[in-house]
Amino acid sequence: MVPILPPIVGEPSPLARAPSSSFATLTTAASFLARTLLDVFAPLGCASCDDPRPRDLAFCARCDETLLREPLQGSALGPAGKSRGLVLAPVAVRVHAFGAYGAALAEAIVRFKYAGRSDLAQPLGALLASLTVDCGLSPDVVVPVPLHPLRLMRRGYNQSALLAACVARRACAALDTSSLRRSRPAPAQAGLGAAARERNLVDAFAAGGHALRGRRVLLVDDVMTTGATLRACARAVVRSGASHVSAIVLARAL
Ligand SMILES: [Zn+2]
Repeated sequence: MVPILPPIVGEPSPLARAPSSSFATLTTAASFLARTLLDVFAPLGCASCDDPRPRDLAFCARCDETLLREPLQGSALGPAGKSRGLVLAPVAVRVHAFGAYGAALAEAIVRFKYAGRSDLAQPLGALLASLTVDCGLSPDVVVPVPLHPLRLMRRGYNQSALLAACVARRACAALDTSSLRRSRPAPAQAGLGAAARERNLVDAFAAGGHALRGRRVLLVDDVMTTGATLRACARAVVRSGASHVSAIVLARAL
């Protein structure tokens, strides 16, 4: 069955991009069908170890046992308030995480982000899509945390955007990959303390246009550490007029 694609803001669907000639339309449709068939017949390897897994799960039974699932109600990412003299807009966001960062989930995310395994977007995205439904989230728009263009060029894909596409499709929401942007490059966050991360990201993101005005926005990222990135994104999204913002991530680092 051909999945129903949600509207994508800023990035037309493959079918919408089809030129008017019938040959080009057929070619595009054939390529879309081929990708759908590839999805259906893709090898069912565990996202963490490549052992066989059930079609509707991301992990094999052995890896599944290592997962530390987070409560469905998520956790409140409180307003940052002040960070060494910086007064930050008080944006509170509820963050839902599939699990704690570690064991098989961490291994899967490392493979997904750093080993070129963009194919893991399908099983990991399905996890997040199910979590969105289980948490009762009903966003109008799904927005991935953007990568800096240089990092995007190096990696070849934004892992959060691939996850967000799965979430948007399942939630029948629009996928918006263009409204939220990095307004300036931020140094790597790894190794920094919470306050330094917060300072690093003040005004690092900006949301332009009117696509998010009055909309319920769901931010998607792969991992949340201190929450500084999600808070900075939420601040930008609220500034652009969103009526509500929540967030969903694969893993929460403890
Ligand atoms: Zn496994």
